Amino acid sequence: MSSNTTFNITPSTTPASAADREQKLQAIQFGRVFTDHMAVVKYSNGTWHDPEVKAYGPLSLDPSASVLHYGQAIFEGFKAYRQPDNSISLFRPEQNAERFNRSAHRLAMPSIPKELFIGAADALVKIDQAWVPGGSGESLYLRPFMIATDPFLGVRPSNEYLFLLIASPAGEYFPQGLKPVSVWASKEYVRAAPGGTGEAKCAGNYAASLLAQAEATQHGCDQVIWLDAIEREYIEEMGGMNLFFVYRKEGKPVIVTPQLTGTLLPGITRSTLLQLAADEGYAAEERRLSLTEVREAIASGEISEVFACGTAAVITPVGLIKGRGFEVTINSNENGPVALALRDALLGIQRGTAADTHGWLHKV
Ligand code: PMP
Repeated sequence: MSSNTTFNITPSTTPASAADREQKLQAIQFGRVFTDHMAVVKYSNGTWHDPEVKAYGPLSLDPSASVLHYGQAIFEGFKAYRQPDNSISLFRPEQNAERFNRSAHRLAMPSIPKELFIGAADALVKIDQAWVPGGSGESLYLRPFMIATDPFLGVRPSNEYLFLLIASPAGEYFPQGLKPVSVWASKEYVRAAPGGTGEAKCAGNYAASLLAQAEATQHGCDQVIWLDAIEREYIEEMGGMNLFFVYRKEGKPVIVTPQLTGTLLPGITRSTLLQLAADEGYAAEERRLSLTEVREAIASGEISEVFACGTAAVITPVGLIKGRGFEVTINSNENGPVALALRDALLGIQRGTAADTHGWLHKV
């Protein structure tokens, strides 16, 4: 490893007291409370330099910084899990590093070496290890992101960037127990069109999703389902999660997920579940899936379960799909056995209570 992938560590002079930290870990407020430190790497003159870990705190940006005007901003999300022997492991961080660099490419931003991306996570989790909760369903959520900092109003790729990594403790996603969500299939708004940025994890995609999420809420639904931009008929993904449909063919489950068309995010949980489904002996298909097909197959009982998956909530059953002029209930709005089996299998690997046969855990 060359010297420029070694993080210079400057410990915070005002870390939370042990009592304050414990109190914050007792009543976890995901996304509002952050650990004592952050990792920062600068990019200029064509290279990444000065990797450091320092006290978490505000950034100073020139008001003309190009991210504030033209939105060159990408991010990732993955988690650190406390293991039964009290050590800490990250789940498939190299997959997030690869997707981050694909997002960077789409936004005309520089790629970051994997050693820096994962090195930042190792260094931050090490210094803030006391912030990794160990309770059931708990983890430390890691949020790497990159912004364009060139103080220039011309529309062109920035010459300067900042890579940052911050961390927030995450509690049990469903403190009241796992319950199916309801989803609104939006024909008004489109998340991504062919040739656009749908498969990149860029900030603008999320800004553009908020109005559709508000529309879903107005219709009494928890989440939005995105349809394709052209026919407004093919199912792409849910708000911040990928979707799976469980068919029964000759009594056996066949799990079907929309194929990666370039307009949906290639979820790491999605690809993990395709592997786990194969391990469990389920047949799996990645293909285009229309709303009409899904509605008919739910009505006929051919589809027995629908669920969504992503880093934040792992697996969430879907109990109701609504759109203009229709509403279908799935599996009597109950959690289904395939979703629960895959969820247990994945959580077991992440928490270190099941064998990590695919080498998905990265020990910090
Ligand atoms: N789709 C979108 C739009 C997302 O934001 C996410 C969360 N990253 C996902 C799917 C699920 O991806 P992953 O399994 O990698 O968390």
